[in-house]
Amino acid sequence: MTEQIINELEIYDILERAKKATHEEIERIIEKGRAALGLTPKEAAVLLQINDPELTEKLFSAAREVKNRIYGKRVVIFAPLYISNKCINNCVYCGFRASNKKLFRKTLTRQEIIEQVKILESLGHKRLLIEFGEDPHDAHIDRVVEAIETIYNAGDIRRINVNIAATGVEEYRKLKAARIGTYQLFQETYHRETYEKMHPSGPKSDYDYHLTAHNRAFEAGLDDLGIGVLFGLYDYKFEVVALLKHAEYMDKVLGVGPHTISVPRWRPALGVDKSKIPALVSDDEFKRIVAIIRLAVPYTGIILSTRETAEDRDKLIALGVSQMSAGSCTDVGGYSNRLEENHIYSSQFDNPDHRPPDEVIRRICELGYLPSFCTACYRNERTGERFMKLAKTGKIHNLCQPNAILTFQEYLEDYASPETKAVGEKTIKEQLELIPDPKMKEWTIKRLKRIKQGERDLN
Ligand code: SAM
Ligand code: SF4
Repeated sequence: MTEQIINELEIYDILERAKKATHEEIERIIEKGRAALGLTPKEAAVLLQINDPELTEKLFSAAREVKNRIYGKRVVIFAPLYISNKCINNCVYCGFRASNKKLFRKTLTRQEIIEQVKILESLGHKRLLIEFGEDPHDAHIDRVVEAIETIYNAGDIRRINVNIAATGVEEYRKLKAARIGTYQLFQETYHRETYEKMHPSGPKSDYDYHLTAHNRAFEAGLDDLGIGVLFGLYDYKFEVVALLKHAEYMDKVLGVGPHTISVPRWRPALGVDKSKIPALVSDDEFKRIVAIIRLAVPYTGIILSTRETAEDRDKLIALGVSQMSAGSCTDVGGYSNRLEENHIYSSQFDNPDHRPPDEVIRRICELGYLPSFCTACYRNERTGERFMKLAKTGKIHNLCQPNAILTFQEYLEDYASPETKAVGEKTIKEQLELIPDPKMKEWTIKRLKRIKQGERDLN
C-alpha cells in the first residue's frame, strides 16, 4: 500500500521535469492557483522551482488572494497542551527522545491537567491540541482518552485535536468515541532512507506503519485527519511534492483529503545536535512553501504552530495560514511553570515566540485579520466530506464569518486587555461588513448585542 501513497522515483521524476518549465508555464500555473482550482503535485513542483523576485511576488499575491477568498481574514486560534514527554522512540531531531537523559520527564496527573486547562481557559482558549510522546504506559490510549475526558469535563474547552503516535484501528476507535476534533500525525519526512536515519529505534522507526496510520484512523471512523512534514530533515521540494501526493491519495482513496496540513519547521532542542539536521529551510523558502501549499489545496487548513518567530508569523498569515497557536508552551506543565527558571528542561524544543496570547491576538487584528475561537463545524458534526463539500461551495463564508465574529466578541468581553479590546472592536466593525448575506449580517448584529449583555456560546 505504501507504494500507492509515495513512490519516490515518481517524485524525483516530477521534480526533474519541473526544472524544464518555461516562464509562461509557471505563470499559467500561478493563475490556475489564483483561481482557487487547486494544483496537481506536478504543477506544485513547477512552482517549487521559482526563485526570481518577480515570480515570487506573483506567487505570493495569488496565495494572498486565495486565502482571502476562501478563509476571508479569519485565523483560528488554538494552544498546544503537552501531557507527557515520556517517549520510547529516538527521533534524532526531538528533545523528548528516549536517549536524551538531560530532559526532565513528566506526565501530568488528572489534577495537573485540570490546572493547565483552567490557565488556558483564563487566557481565552477554546481549542486545544494535545500532545504525548510514545510510551506504553503513560501514553497508552486509555490514558489519552482519560486526558480528553478530563479536559472536556473541566470547563469550556470545545474542541480537542490530538497529536499522538501512529497506532492501530482499535485504538483509533477509542479516540473517535472520545469525540476528538482532528487527529494529526506528521510523516516528518516522506524520504524513506532519511526517515530510517532519523528514527533509529522504537516503534516509530517503521516507515510503512507510520505512513499508513491515516488509513487506519479513517477505518476507525476518524474523518478529520491532519498530515504534515517536519521541514529540515530532507530536501523541502521532495517533501512538498510527497505531502501533496499523500493528500491526493487520501482524497482519491479515502474520499476525503486532509482536513489540515501542518508545516512545522525544525527548532533547536535540548540535547539535539543541530549538525544532524541536514536540510534546514530558510525563511524565504519557507514562505514559498506555505504559499505553494495554499494554492495546491485551497480548502485544506494550514496550521502554523509554535515554531516560528513573531515577525515570521506576521508574514505567513497573509500567505495562507488559517490556524495559529497563541501563547504556546512546549513543556509539560509549562503554563503554570512559565516563570520558573528550569521550565525549559522539559520542553520538546525551544519556542521562539514568547508573546502572551493577548498580544498575539492584538497583533493579528492590527494586521487586518480576525482571530476566531469558533468550533461550530465540529460541534454540528460538519466534519470530513460534509465539511469539504460545504467549503467548496463557498457557502461556508456565511457560517464562518458570523461565528468567528461572535466568538471573538466573547473573547474581547471576557479575556482581552483594554488595548486589545479597543483594537478588536474596530476589527469586529470592519469584519461585519464582509458578511456576504445581509440577513446573516443582521442576525450577527443581534447576537453581538446579546453577547455584550452577558450571554455566551450563541453560535
Ligand atoms: N510523539 C508523537 C509523534 O511523534 O508523532 C506526537 C507528538 S510530537 C510531540 C509532535 C511533533 O513535534 C512531531 O511530529 C514532530 O514533527 C515535531 N517535532 C519534534 N521535534 C521537533 C523540533 N525539534 N522542532 C520542531 N518540531 C519538532
Ligand atoms: Fe517521541 Fe514524538 Fe519526539 Fe519522536 S517526535 S521522540 S515520537 S515525542
